[in-house]
Amino acid sequence: MHETIPVDVLVIGGGVAGAVAAARASALGSKVVVLAPAGGASALSSGAIDVADSLAAEPWANAMQDIARENPWHPYARVGEAGRVHMRAALSLLQDVAKGVSLCMREDGHNHLLATQFGTVKRCAMVQKSALLDLGELWSDAVVGVVGVSGLLGFSAKSVAQMLRFSLAPGEEAPFHVMPLEVDFAPSPGSLWRSPLEASAALDDPLVVQSFAKSLSEAITACGRSPTHLLLPAFLSRQNAMGVIGILEQETGCIVRELLATPHSVPGLRLASALQAGLKALGIETCSAKVESFELEAHKIVGVKAGGIFYIPKTVVLATGKYLGGGISNHTGQLREQVFGLPIWEKDRVVTEAFVGDLTAGGPAEAQPLFSAGLVYDEQLRPYNAYKELFALNLFAAGAVLGGFEPAKDATALGVSVLTGYLAGGYAKRSLQG
Ligand SMILES: Cc1cc2nc3c(=O)[nH]c(=O)nc-3n(C[C@H](O)[C@H](O)[C@H](O)COP(=O)(O)OP(=O)(O)OC[C@H]3O[C@@H](n4cnc5c(N)ncnc54)[C@H](O)[C@@H]3O)c2cc1C
Repeated sequence: MHETIPVDVLVIGGGVAGAVAAARASALGSKVVVLAPAGGASALSSGAIDVADSLAAEPWANAMQDIARENPWHPYARVGEAGRVHMRAALSLLQDVAKGVSLCMREDGHNHLLATQFGTVKRCAMVQKSALLDLGELWSDAVVGVVGVSGLLGFSAKSVAQMLRFSLAPGEEAPFHVMPLEVDFAPSPGSLWRSPLEASAALDDPLVVQSFAKSLSEAITACGRSPTHLLLPAFLSRQNAMGVIGILEQETGCIVRELLATPHSVPGLRLASALQAGLKALGIETCSAKVESFELEAHKIVGVKAGGIFYIPKTVVLATGKYLGGGISNHTGQLREQVFGLPIWEKDRVVTEAFVGDLTAGGPAEAQPLFSAGLVYDEQLRPYNAYKELFALNLFAAGAVLGGFEPAKDATALGVSVLTGYLAGGYAKRSLQG
């Protein structure tokens, strides 16, 4: 006999979409349980939130409208103006849930302009405070030092600084001075950290931080030019990046921030931990088990088994991500949604049985149907079956499992997860009353 637990809203998936959905449904008074096995794309991401961007560098809310107008399959279009207006509230809710990483958003509604660990620049609506150095705000007398660490494999301060100068002003002089700064610091003589992840574990030790701060300060003295700002690889501790930054700023007198991370990303892991901690602080129960089976009766999901427990949900939010999250897979040779076996769509055709190679286009600039494939759903985010009928009246979907957008290319990835998570949590609660 299994333990049975009745819940108002069962959220399947503990990435950004699932966490926001759970927080929203809970704030509206529902009893929520989240199934949140480790992993997923949120934990791999740079930890910054892309909402929408445009060549005109207009506020992200305007760019969202443009995207919705140009692509009727995009979730921003499918949820309509009535859904899109909730983006700011949804982002604020994420700030509350992921309090541990202090997500920052500009008051004026514009994107931040940030430097990445490749030396490129990227615009995004929210960023962890540890990476908040808005390049568009710097004066011409700023001197930005890109810091390389001798003991960290795979990061060249010289190349990143050079690339950053180019990214800021291709073929022209950069709007402020950017210079590489090499610091002689390693785990022990002759050894290396193979990734920022390894280095971040070392920087959880306060003694290592003190010693690194001293080496950084010595490197500044030796270089002959005083930087105003320092940009480091994203490795400043898994637990307390802002604490480490405080110590480095005190020692060097510079503003210290991290570059936007590349995978496997320490800020992505910080975001995942902050979400878990945030859900706990809100009193929301989480369980690290995957769904094993479910029961459907009279067009409603009436039972979900996970980790040996049989949940009896009134409503369900599916937020299992796409290929990295595990929400969609082609392990069986068929592109399938993994929990309920829902069909996968590319625009208005079901591609469940398509050969994956046929869903990839020639060049990176071309549309890639494999990346935009996903669930098709009504305006309340309820997924369709292969006949374009609702699969279940009490099922709502959110995040990367939804089709119609290419997360990386559209620069809307985590924005979609935040907005649709917020809406799905609200619709799930509302359907309890109906
Ligand atoms: C390397 C990389 C960098 C990125 N950088 C950015 C960026 O800078 N900005 C940005 O906006 N976006 C970025 N993205 C995209 C972004 O991370 C994803 O679009 C987003 O995280 C998707 O969130 P989600 O909550 O929908 O899914 P996920 O975060 O993938 O979460 C899915 C969850 O569902 C769970 N799950 C899956 N199957 C089951 C099951 N059967 N039962 C129970 N639980 C299950 C998983 O364990 C996981 O908890 C990046 C992605 C990658 C890979």
